[in-house]
Amino acid sequence: MSRIFVASRNAKKIAEMERILAPLIADVEVLGLDDVDFYEEPVEDAPTFEGNALIKARAGFEATGIPSVADDSGLCVDALNGMPGVLSARWGGKPKSDDRNNQLLLDQLDDVPDERRGAHFTCAVAFVHAGGELVVEGRMTGRVLRAPAGEGGFGYDPLFVADDTADGRTSAELSVDEKDAISHRGKAMREIASRIAEAL
Ligand code: IMP
Repeated sequence: MSRIFVASRNAKKIAEMERILAPLIADVEVLGLDDVDFYEEPVEDAPTFEGNALIKARAGFEATGIPSVADDSGLCVDALNGMPGVLSARWGGKPKSDDRNNQLLLDQLDDVPDERRGAHFTCAVAFVHAGGELVVEGRMTGRVLRAPAGEGGFGYDPLFVADDTADGRTSAELSVDEKDAISHRGKAMREIASRIAEAL
């Protein structure tokens, strides 16, 4: 039995990692923050997604001794020089609010014409174990709309149409499987899973 620790309380993320790893590693068990003894989670103060993912995965491995995975993600908008980037979660202020974040994004891009509304989501995933550490990154490119559409997903999904979604639906209008197939997180999770399988 191999064990992997995902430094997250998000049951969906943990289940996703287990789903992707299961065909690659026999008898793998994926644990989350709620399955291990409490430890103080580190401050995510790196200027890059990779840096923050590594901070979390290193802290997880140090605390649990179990090979550890952590991710960090956000939206980078071309017309805003890559903002909100690593500040995506709390861009509209604390406490975190998707509605406030989306309103701020619409306000900031109010005067920006359609042809300059390009953006991409990035997800960095880090893996830290006794044999070393590695980070991979996945991207989903697309554009930011002028009004939200859709009830699914989370975060900036209602304002984002991926280049890979030919019919113009937002990420919030995709099924979970459709989004996983093209998303920054899906791509990064699949790549880290195959790298973990090689490393263990
Ligand atoms: P985290 O890395 O999962 O904590 O995500 C950071 C923030 O980036 C989230 O709070 C969202 O605002 C934004 N974000 C990351 N991935 C997505 C996505 O797939 N859809 C919409 N927003 C996202």
